[in-house]
Amino acid sequence: MEKPHILLINPWIYDFAAHDLWMKPLGLLYIASVLREEGYKISFIDCLDRYNTELLKLQNLERPKNKKYGSGHFLRTEVRKPDILKDIPRRYCRYGITEEIFIEELKKISHPDAILVTSMMTYWYPGVFRAIELLKDKFPNTPVILGGIYATLCHDHALNNSGADFVFNGNDINGTLALINKLTGIENQFRYSISELPSPAFDLYQNIDYACISTSFGCPYQCTYCASKLLYPDFIQRKPESVVSEIEYFYQKLGIKNFAFYDDALLVNSDKHIEIILDEVIKLNLYPYFHTPNGIHPRLITASLAQKLFLSGFKTLRLSLETTNKKLQIETGNKVTSEEFEEALKILKTAGFGKDGLGAYIFMGYPGKEKEEVNDSINYVTQKGIRPFLVEYSPIPGTFEWNRMIEKGIIEGNIDPLFHNNSVFLRKFLSWEESDLQKIKAMVRKGQHSA
Ligand code: SF4
Repeated sequence: MEKPHILLINPWIYDFAAHDLWMKPLGLLYIASVLREEGYKISFIDCLDRYNTELLKLQNLERPKNKKYGSGHFLRTEVRKPDILKDIPRRYCRYGITEEIFIEELKKISHPDAILVTSMMTYWYPGVFRAIELLKDKFPNTPVILGGIYATLCHDHALNNSGADFVFNGNDINGTLALINKLTGIENQFRYSISELPSPAFDLYQNIDYACISTSFGCPYQCTYCASKLLYPDFIQRKPESVVSEIEYFYQKLGIKNFAFYDDALLVNSDKHIEIILDEVIKLNLYPYFHTPNGIHPRLITASLAQKLFLSGFKTLRLSLETTNKKLQIETGNKVTSEEFEEALKILKTAGFGKDGLGAYIFMGYPGKEKEEVNDSINYVTQKGIRPFLVEYSPIPGTFEWNRMIEKGIIEGNIDPLFHNNSVFLRKFLSWEESDLQKIKAMVRKGQHSA
């Protein structure tokens, strides 16, 4: 009997700004891979695929305009700004393929038995809703299952508003698969463990310039502003050999050179984990370019690790500093001190890293972190000879900081997820002036230039 046909969708981003900084729907690609292994027929539309043939034709391009390591700009189409964001003086856009291309892609697909839609940032939900609306127009009787970060962190909002028939909470891959089975009349029990899944199905892309890898899920730390524990209650590291064969497969068979690590805690237990992985990559004579768009922990960088990071091909290393304010460092989770940050920089520079690859994340708009402190942190990082990168803070539902802000009366617990947007939070809830923001951003640009 022919196995059911499942359509997987990665929706658009709706935001004031978005950039393809190695952004792929890793969870959805894992599910695709498991379903395929179980014999299901898979179709896949990624609204953010910059290699979509029709999108390239529309832009008169043969291939996307990429930056050095495969990142680049999405096509941007201005859309009507939601009324509650009308005070934000920026253009609101949809990023990715056009709606017309999406509808044409749907026409090419035979009738699916179930549709899986993923979601990322909570405040990108308008793209999810629009995708579900168009899917329901085309396949009105096919059940739509929504999962991913927005569906987990804003579960009730998604249940009440998304139009999906089922909304999944968390990362229970066996539960998702059991639901698909139930909906499609298949009797089968899945017993996959998150650390032993088949490699994510990057081969579903006709062309691809980078792959994303998670060598672990979750984080053993518990910073007050972070949602890692809500998404992955346990910290789980994959077997190093399975990560190495994944890298080798993507590199040799799919020709992928750039790899972005999605780990929240890549360097934890490094001698038993990442160092073993990197030793193997070096031994295999692979020459990948590795990137850490999620910051890494400066405290965990040793001389031996730094050398392996350098020799195995790390090109973009972002260090999580967030603030140089000692009190805030401790209050928010004590994951790093400025002394540890300086020591890590020294070690990395000795290992061979130059200013081009190194950067540090700095929070802007964190309640209690005044504008002057943001300036101090930027100056500090720039003086250390590396590039500052701003993270515009916004609270994430369910975190300690989220609850603290409700208690302090800064936000209400039921604010629309559009207000979680980092471009919105500090303007609307902390009353930052546009001129302050622009001054700080100019300082960062100067710091990035001069570092
Ligand atoms: S160390 Fe990073 S990932 Fe871990 S809890 Fe803190 S912010 Fe989150």
